[in-house]
Amino acid sequence: MDRVIILRYGEIFLKGKNKSYFESLLINNIKQSLKGYAHEFSRSQGRYVVSGYDADFENEIIDKLKKVFGIHSLSVADRVETNFAGGFDQIIESVKNLALKTAQSNRIAKPSFRITVKRADKHIPLKSFEIAAIIADTVLKNTNFTVDLTDFDYEFSVDIRENGYSYVYNDKIMGAGGLPVGCSSKGMLLLSGGIDSPVAGYMMAKRGMKQLAIHFASPPYTSERATAKVAELRDIISAYTADLPLYVVPFTEIQLEIHEKCPAEFMITIMRRFMMRIATDIAKREGCTAIITGESLGQVASQTVESMTSTESCAGLPIFRPLIAFDKEETMDLAKKIGTYDTSIQPFEDCCTIFLPKNPSIHPNLKRVEEAEKKLDIEALVERAVAATEKR
Ligand code: ATP
Ligand code: MG
Repeated sequence: MDRVIILRYGEIFLKGKNKSYFESLLINNIKQSLKGYAHEFSRSQGRYVVSGYDADFENEIIDKLKKVFGIHSLSVADRVETNFAGGFDQIIESVKNLALKTAQSNRIAKPSFRITVKRADKHIPLKSFEIAAIIADTVLKNTNFTVDLTDFDYEFSVDIRENGYSYVYNDKIMGAGGLPVGCSSKGMLLLSGGIDSPVAGYMMAKRGMKQLAIHFASPPYTSERATAKVAELRDIISAYTADLPLYVVPFTEIQLEIHEKCPAEFMITIMRRFMMRIATDIAKREGCTAIITGESLGQVASQTVESMTSTESCAGLPIFRPLIAFDKEETMDLAKKIGTYDTSIQPFEDCCTIFLPKNPSIHPNLKRVEEAEKKLDIEALVERAVAATEKR
């Protein structure tokens, strides 16, 4: 007998002909997330089984698996070899141990249970319910539990598989759901050090989008520590995105030029237009088909429809804004759930907050913005920034 983790995948079953493609993506992502933690993986009739791991790391492994999109639910199980000529002894023993453990931690006054047997191996002479009755007998003898098939407190499941193994478990842990990362093309995530953009990356990963991240830094106005914070956020979200290379763009020269040559009211708009141009350039080179931001309608001056329209015209790719209709509280709750919040709220400067004008234009007029930009050598500025970009 050994301990294993059974993974069930949900939505990807719906994908008909593409099923095997989705499955192989998911399996690769699982293997990558457990690198160094587990070394045995097997597929069994729409389930995936992880074994060969150190039990001391089981909780850590489960935490990792809960971040892999495409996994619907997981269960820690006993895997017992089954040889039915010799009866069900091993299965019964395993359910008994599980029931005893459950009884120990039980706080319910009159606990009830059911045994659910799934019998993929049809060679077994007994029907599922007959096997369940035999196993239930042992639980009844060893605990104060009573049987209730419909309104039960505990369910002990036994999956008898064709490969000579059976799986015994009682807990179903919810997985992250969604689609396996990699099945929905690749996006370039504009990653600031704030609360919103890491959540935006998480949301797009949930729908299967692979990502690269890009961050604009303005040293010496922004510190090395501010960029390190962004790298830290990248590390946290990369548990969901499979991996997440980070491009750091030096943005100081562009900001100083805009500050010097353009009307203050358009500072933010023009700055964001540069971000889009640079992001598009690197995104296209790296095979991305979309840009992702953490913008939310009406949150700040730069997030009105007019502001977004005037930055959008510089992006040569569609922009996805998964938080567009989120309240800040909703985003904050998600940030806490995915583990980015505490890092995001560390007070470090962002390039967007330096040279901030007193009265930014809330509804910038695109024609006037374009006119104002003519003072700048846009192409050369973009080219230099892209050339000096560092990958981390
Ligand atoms: P966030 O919490 O993600 O920082 P925000 O509420 O501060 O967002 P803005 O400063 O208007 O909003 O930025 C909007 C979006 O632009 C961000 O969500 C992010 O996608 C992108 N962005 C802003 N600053 C940077 C930066 N320095 N580097 C990369 N992307 C940025
Ligand atoms: Mg910000």
